[in-house]
Amino acid sequence: AVTSPKTKVTALPGDGIGPEVMAATIRILDAAGAPIEWEYAEAGAEAFKKGVITGVPRETLDSISTNKLALKSPLETPIGYGGKSANVTMRKFFELYANIRPVRELPGITTPFSGRGIDMVIVRENVEDVYAGIEHMQTTTVAQCLKLMTAPGCERIIRAAYGLAQAEERKGVTVATKANIMKLTEGMMKRMGEKVAAEFPDIKPGHIIIDNCAHQLVIKPEAFDVIVTSNMNGDIISDLAAGLVGGLGIAPSSNLGDHAAMFEAVHGSAPDIAGKGLANPTALLSASIMLLRHIAAFDVAEKVEQALFITLAEGKNLTGDLAPRGHGVGTAAFTDQVIANLGRSS
Ligand code: NAD
Repeated sequence: AVTSPKTKVTALPGDGIGPEVMAATIRILDAAGAPIEWEYAEAGAEAFKKGVITGVPRETLDSISTNKLALKSPLETPIGYGGKSANVTMRKFFELYANIRPVRELPGITTPFSGRGIDMVIVRENVEDVYAGIEHMQTTTVAQCLKLMTAPGCERIIRAAYGLAQAEERKGVTVATKANIMKLTEGMMKRMGEKVAAEFPDIKPGHIIIDNCAHQLVIKPEAFDVIVTSNMNGDIISDLAAGLVGGLGIAPSSNLGDHAAMFEAVHGSAPDIAGKGLANPTALLSASIMLLRHIAAFDVAEKVEQALFITLAEGKNLTGDLAPRGHGVGTAAFTDQVIANLGRSS
């Protein structure tokens, strides 16, 4: 029989609950027949403890450089030892300039916004803006932080948003900025939005001031389709938007560059429940579904997503964060339930 070639993906089990949600995710993907060969690599706390100042050993960077694809669990940013954030190291090293955060209602997850038809994608610029971390004291009482935005940086993130809208057959792209106050930096993003929009006549362009965007996200979240915004604006509104559909614990994201892509859960390493077998793997599993679609393994993506949706909708064997008080099960039982639901259509 002819077997289709497998895609090699670097798996970073990470810190805290990271190894637990990674093991659960890979168990589900393997059971679903995902065409992936996993290459495990280290990053985060263990690397810092070994004295790797960036939190990411050379072999890990090499693995991602070669495979161009990574599935990453949360990494701790150690306080009191180590150097920078390992996450920032990788984002910068691989120039992962687009952070993609889909936000939509999941079956069985009830929120004050349930039933509104929320289905949007937030495209956040991931490497520029005030996150360049260039700060200094001007005098002993005046601190300054540089907000750096470049025309090529604005152009590629706007193009990423339009490309995504086109690929997913979405109707509109809204550029969210603070251009009314920061006319050069944020204004550059707004003007670039207008320029690029002209090339996509089938997609409705829009612009909104970021504070009103936060307001509208709460008042009328179903009105949004694709939102594209600068780094700090995106950091804030993507967490807000995740809250509308059930919180950070279930939110996936991807970090895309021109040469590599990294998929991860939005939540952190949850030290309070680490090692107890209680973590919910839904966010990393959802990120892995994004990865499957990225490598065009659409059938397997559909199969895993369907099994996850059925599990959530039926509400049987959910982890403690989603189940009614006292009815939660552990990571392994939830994972078994998703695997049992593979291949079911409803
Ligand atoms: P956190 O997301 O780890 O935890 C917040 C709360 O949510 C905790 O009560 C935790 O138990 C719960 N939670 C999170 N994920 C869960 C899951 N999958 N299942 C069940 N419950 C879950 O946030 P934090 O405590 O602020 O951060 C802890 C560490 O994670 C820090 O070192 C931080 O730097 C790091 N972090 C890493 C990333 C990343 O790697 N992308 C993102 C955020 C935070």
